[in-house]
Amino acid sequence: MTDLHRNFIGGEWVADGAATPNHNPSDLADVIGEYLQGDAALTRQAIDAAAAAFPAWSHSPPQRRFDILDAAGSMILAHKAKLGELLAREEGKILPEAIGEVGRAGQIFKFFAGEALRQSGDLLASVRSGVTVEVTREPIGVVGLITPWNFPIAIPAWKMAPAIAYGNCVVLKPAELVPGCAWALAEILAEAGLPAGVFNLVMGRGSVVGAEVIASPKIAAISFTGSVTTGRRITEQAVVSGKKVQVEMGGKNPMVVLDDADLKVAVEAAVNSAFFSTGQRCTAASRLIVTEGIHDRFVGAVSERLAGLKVDHALKAGTDIGPVVSEAQLHQDLEYVAVGKAEGAKLVAGGERLTRDTEGYYMAPALFTETTPEMRVNREEIFGPVASVIRTKDYDTALAIANDIEFGLSAGIATTSLKYAQHFKRNAQAGMVMVNLPTAGVDYHVPFGGRKGSSYGPREQGRYAAEFYTTVKTSYQAAG
Ligand code: ADP
Repeated sequence: MTDLHRNFIGGEWVADGAATPNHNPSDLADVIGEYLQGDAALTRQAIDAAAAAFPAWSHSPPQRRFDILDAAGSMILAHKAKLGELLAREEGKILPEAIGEVGRAGQIFKFFAGEALRQSGDLLASVRSGVTVEVTREPIGVVGLITPWNFPIAIPAWKMAPAIAYGNCVVLKPAELVPGCAWALAEILAEAGLPAGVFNLVMGRGSVVGAEVIASPKIAAISFTGSVTTGRRITEQAVVSGKKVQVEMGGKNPMVVLDDADLKVAVEAAVNSAFFSTGQRCTAASRLIVTEGIHDRFVGAVSERLAGLKVDHALKAGTDIGPVVSEAQLHQDLEYVAVGKAEGAKLVAGGERLTRDTEGYYMAPALFTETTPEMRVNREEIFGPVASVIRTKDYDTALAIANDIEFGLSAGIATTSLKYAQHFKRNAQAGMVMVNLPTAGVDYHVPFGGRKGSSYGPREQGRYAAEFYTTVKTSYQAAG
């Protein structure tokens, strides 16, 4: 009998709903736990609990918010190993990556604990004599957070922590595949002494729980990370109903490799960007745009590096790449390998399903060469361990190809030229640019987000998070 995990509403663990088991993608026989699925009525209950808690929490002293968020951060860090193991079992990224993600979540809570104390405004003289003007920030109300499966603890953390720090109340709907990490965060917040109703967790289907969060007139703002299709739909609904909205969606991130690159640096950055975390990062590089002079050496070195990578159970020591997260995702990844071949791309490594000691969703990382920018494998987000090399003649054409895409989340370049590095930083059409570094792997204290079809609304993380989680008030006062 596995543990039964309930939803967390108004400070109580609520027993309603049907339980669904959560399976380990590295070993389908391993059931992580049973998680109760919320419905529309339970979601409304959570929204009501958050609304009831808002008046008191929005006026709570910053010291209180600091203490609770800081304590939550410390608990996350103290339980890094255990939470990391849960994450690796649930999502399938390898244990060191999972522990790293948990560490990041802990630091995010600590950062936003500090932000609660650092809130400030402006005091200005009015253009009229005898009047002063104050510009202050206030919380926005009840926020709905809808999160994906690929960073099951860091993404909920980077939405919850600022929401709570700035005085809002929260309803979190985690992705169906990864309720365990969200549940663990709820338990930690309850233990840290967060007042009832400030944070509520409703696990369940996007089309049921998520849809209710989006539709509710009591929700002031929605922060979503997930697929392009869902993100666009949510944005339209939120805008029409007058909700503030922040949406992070897909990417088709380029990594440009120039003739003058340090080959080792370029190969490490490309392999990490494209294949680590099983390629399941919205910042993963999937288009490796390589100039002619280094092309063959680069392809040879990447292929060799791929041949040495171990794909296996996420908890096994020495595994470099864990399984794909689900059967549906694996099916999609294999489909794209078939699409690439049919389009005339040359598959030089991987691309097939693998069997291991335990039954799981294993796939050999796939590398295509001889691809063109128009191919579907170079235009559509695959979200798996599949990357393509596009051969090009020089920096200018590489930059043009990098930018010729509907997305704009992250862009990378490998070069030893200061001139090209500077030019790329200024001209890459992306929210984040990496020079001689992987396109994925970002700091927790600076803004995260993209341009074009990748993102909509204000940036997440760092002090820029205040743009979304607060609203500005301008107050005028006559002297005397
Ligand atoms: P992915 O499965 O690739 O992460 P999705 O966009 O399907 O991408 O899912 C991201 C999150 O959005 C999940 O928590 C999912 O349950 C939720 N979701 C899916 N469909 C809807 C919807 N119609 N309304 C609200 N949330 C949804």
